Amino acid sequence: MSLQPDALRSFQMCIGGEWTDALSGNTFDSLNPATGQVWAQFPDADERDVNCAVDAAHTAFHSSEWRSLTPTARGKLLRKLGDLIAENTETLAQLESIDNGKLIRETRGQVGYLPEFFYYTAGLADKIEGETLPLDKPDMMAYTIREPIGVIAAIIPWNSPLYLTAIKVAPALAAGNTVVLKPSEHASATLVELVKLAEQAGIPKGVLNVVTGFGPSTGAALTSHPLVRKIAFTGGAATARHVIRSSAENFARLSLELGGKSPQIVFADADLESAVNGIVAGIFAASGQSCVAGSRLLIHKDVYEPFITALAERAARIKIGNPQADDSEMGPMATAAQLAVVEDFVARAKADGARLRLGGKRPDMAQGWYYEPTIFECNSNADYLMQEEVFGPVAAVIPFETEEEALAMANDSNYGLAAGIWTRDIARAHRMARDVHSGIIWVNTYRAVSAMASIGGFKHSGYGRESGIDSVLEYTERKTVWINLSSEPMADPFVMR
Ligand code: NAP
Repeated sequence: MSLQPDALRSFQMCIGGEWTDALSGNTFDSLNPATGQVWAQFPDADERDVNCAVDAAHTAFHSSEWRSLTPTARGKLLRKLGDLIAENTETLAQLESIDNGKLIRETRGQVGYLPEFFYYTAGLADKIEGETLPLDKPDMMAYTIREPIGVIAAIIPWNSPLYLTAIKVAPALAAGNTVVLKPSEHASATLVELVKLAEQAGIPKGVLNVVTGFGPSTGAALTSHPLVRKIAFTGGAATARHVIRSSAENFARLSLELGGKSPQIVFADADLESAVNGIVAGIFAASGQSCVAGSRLLIHKDVYEPFITALAERAARIKIGNPQADDSEMGPMATAAQLAVVEDFVARAKADGARLRLGGKRPDMAQGWYYEPTIFECNSNADYLMQEEVFGPVAAVIPFETEEEALAMANDSNYGLAAGIWTRDIARAHRMARDVHSGIIWVNTYRAVSAMASIGGFKHSGYGRESGIDSVLEYTERKTVWINLSSEPMADPFVMR
């Protein structure tokens, strides 16, 4: 089926299993990045709507309907949800492409893989085990229990909404929590659709809720709500600081998946053709709007000039166009504001003396928020463009001479989300993998994702891990139970046992 991007769509929120508008009746417009035109309207939830959603999630968390489900039964519901996503891949892929301007070929791939997160996590639901502790006290035994935390607030950015939701919602529900989702106001459609599929899968009312609206109002009301026990946040550092402050009030747990300035390090012995493609994938796929964008290119001086020439030639051939067209290779920026951010970075890089090798401007298109693939040669790793996240199709390049120098530059960053290492030297690959301070290291590849592999950052790229075998444990509380095995009466209340 093909969705009609020109037809104005209207969406509702789901609170406690009821499909509803905002109590105020207010709505907001969502724009199609390929045209800049309004394509959909969503309820603009205020604090009262958020309170209803959190109350519904809290009630569902304590309901016998949800609590009495065995972990295996929860796993079956998640598997069913995975099946429904698989059946609706094309619709979800098209919706996400219209909503945030991502290429249809990318959303098809991302949504097509989405069920795997639900299947994998479904299998973990009944493997959340406690331990018996080998105590140093002969008359005692102790064991641990893993329990769900409670209501989870999941705050999602606009760049990959379904994927970033799946890696939160699947483990949160597998562990027995309930969730209130807050999509970005720029990309809410597919998360609303996901909640519909959860309903069809038989997930009880109130277990998965969605409130649509703006960050500083809807988002802030959610993250500061006293009944929210954990906030799973993906977004930028400035917002993360707000979220941390909100969580402090109620001691809500936090996981933060933030931005990056990920280095791609090309050694002279690398397969240079693969490295060119890997670097194009890292910074120009998704128009650079990826948390793991490989935006800092460190290139060995022996191959520097031919490499940059080959990279610029390949990047210049990227077909920019309508994200819904099968042959487009780069779509628009997701928002006009993000396009302005990219233009500001480019202006500053020029002012700082960086040399423009490619792009640096908007392409000649009649409409939409497009920007050309852009490559700058920088003078120092300390340059603004080498240090700050653009979240757009702008690569900053610098040469290096030695492995030590490459490592020092790679680690000289506030961020630590991902890194790409390009070399045929296996010992060097492992040394770099060990010594680069990042949550993900890709060797001779980039942007590989699996339900079995964790993602998460070091330093300003955040804390907590999503995806992978431990993701479910991140949504549990660990309780220790002590049993006195002695038949002797308890004497002397004033000593520690
Ligand atoms: P953002 O502005 O920080 O927004 C993220 C989410 O927070 C959105 O849902 C936003 O809602 C909401 N929000 C804004 N202000 C809030 C507040 N005061 N309280 C609660 N929620 C609030 O980030 P973005 O521009 O959407 O996304 C880009 C950033 O996300 C980049 O830095 C990127 O690297 C990072 N990111 C990281 C990962 C990862 O896995 N590490 C993945 C993807 C993106 P509104 O949009 O409605 O304002």
